[in-house]
Amino acid sequence: MSAGRHPFKATPRDTRAHKLIEWYLGEYGTDSQHEHTVKIRAHDNANEARLSVRRGASHYGVSAAAWVCRDGEQCAGDCPDPDAVHDLTFSLHSKGEARRHVARQAGGNSGNLKYNPFAKRG
Ligand SMILES: [Zn+2]
Repeated sequence: MSAGRHPFKATPRDTRAHKLIEWYLGEYGTDSQHEHTVKIRAHDNANEARLSVRRGASHYGVSAAAWVCRDGEQCAGDCPDPDAVHDLTFSLHSKGEARRHVARQAGGNSGNLKYNPFAKRG
């Protein structure tokens, strides 16, 4: 955030998930790997909530894994039942823990990953 930028011209901060994130961090911390599920009616609302969790997580300096399911199947693009109750599942990790998690999946060698989120771009 640069000084001198007019605060009202900045994109409004998405704080809708902040209470949920504070609750999660208080209850589970950042290294528990706990996956918390919230039921949300309608696909679009669940997807919005997923984005709010991700934006909120970066405000707290943690990484979020968040996804939306319907009947146990991940529901991302074409939704078969847009008005149904969906499950938003998320877990929060310290950034260091997120890196370790990726490293574990790669057997300790990030070169084994098809996509390495920590690789330098460009
Ligand atoms: Zn859906």
